[in-house]
Amino acid sequence: MGVGKEQVCKLVNELKPEIYRIATLIGRNPELGHQEHYAAGVLTGFMQEQGFSVDVGIGGLATAFKAKLGRGHAGPSVALLAEYDALPGVGHGCGHNLIAAASVGAAAALARLANLPGTVVVMGTPAEETSGGKVTLAEKGYFDDLDATLMFHPGSQNVSEVATLALDALEFIFVGRAAHAASAAQCGINALDAVLNFFVGLNSLKKQLPEDARVSGIITEGGITPNIIPERAVARLYLRAAKRRDLDELREKVIGCAQGAAGMIGAQVTWRKFELSYDEMCSNRTLADIFTKNLRFLGVAKIIPVQTAMGSVDMGNVSRVVPAIHPYLVLGDGLAIPHTREFATVALSEEGGRLAVLAAKALALTVVDVLTDTRLLHKIKREFSAAH
Ligand SMILES: [Zn+2]
Repeated sequence: MGVGKEQVCKLVNELKPEIYRIATLIGRNPELGHQEHYAAGVLTGFMQEQGFSVDVGIGGLATAFKAKLGRGHAGPSVALLAEYDALPGVGHGCGHNLIAAASVGAAAALARLANLPGTVVVMGTPAEETSGGKVTLAEKGYFDDLDATLMFHPGSQNVSEVATLALDALEFIFVGRAAHAASAAQCGINALDAVLNFFVGLNSLKKQLPEDARVSGIITEGGITPNIIPERAVARLYLRAAKRRDLDELREKVIGCAQGAAGMIGAQVTWRKFELSYDEMCSNRTLADIFTKNLRFLGVAKIIPVQTAMGSVDMGNVSRVVPAIHPYLVLGDGLAIPHTREFATVALSEEGGRLAVLAAKALALTVVDVLTDTRLLHKIKREFSAAH
């Protein structure tokens, strides 16, 4: 069946006041990850008004939700993802209020297309900035029955295909033996020395790592007082690499360093992950190309083909279980730096609202393409199968 692109744009334009209202409400009431109760309330309330059935608190996450258009149409399922967490001190300095407004705006427009086949879902995914809700939802299978997922993120360039780094957050706990630092030093085992040895080892290791690997760390515990040989010392590291398998290898090398550092003075070491691990973003190129084509239709001229971002996003974990894209679109003049008050101010301005409407159109047009063009969906899936 044919759904006219102009018709989709007209429907999104009709929803402009709602999109602005949602972007502003969430923008003015910033909430940290897993505390986004107000935002989740605004979004799920709107989804219900638009005829979606809503489940709140999915996956054991109080502020996660799934909104599904219950028309019972046969065909594929596509999910638009909404983020809505803010940052401490700078409010919506990452512009997640616009992500949420665009995704629910697009979904509401799609709900008005009576003949649209398939199923439209909005997944509310909390805490992107801290312990990624998408990681938990992906692990618990919430994306398994979907055929494609997409969202947009405000940024400084228009780009549909993005690569990000896989990330592990590791804590190493070194245990030695306490002793009087002057009168009985020979009885002690200095856990702080083990950590210092560890960092020396890491510095050697770093010289032999591939260019895209990153090891950064801090010492979070290094003893209690100078007259006791430190019995316990703790270090926290972020390890990053372009691919999960490279990161798994890097992690083993780093663990080897820690064991060597402990072993050389007779200390013990254990390790654990102190935050959820993010996988690299594996953008589906076919889906990204459709998004780009729709951006062009909407008059966006300057689009760069691929961006390798040196950060990490929890959409990476989603991209391993279902074809996914995480495009960026220019917010304002593109000069505001993410995670700043300036970025939050633009995200709350008229320019922010305009971007959310543009993004809603690009998302809605892309969902229509995926739901109505069987050959395209096959191509998306073939590409996904080949990559996983
Ligand atoms: Zn963000």
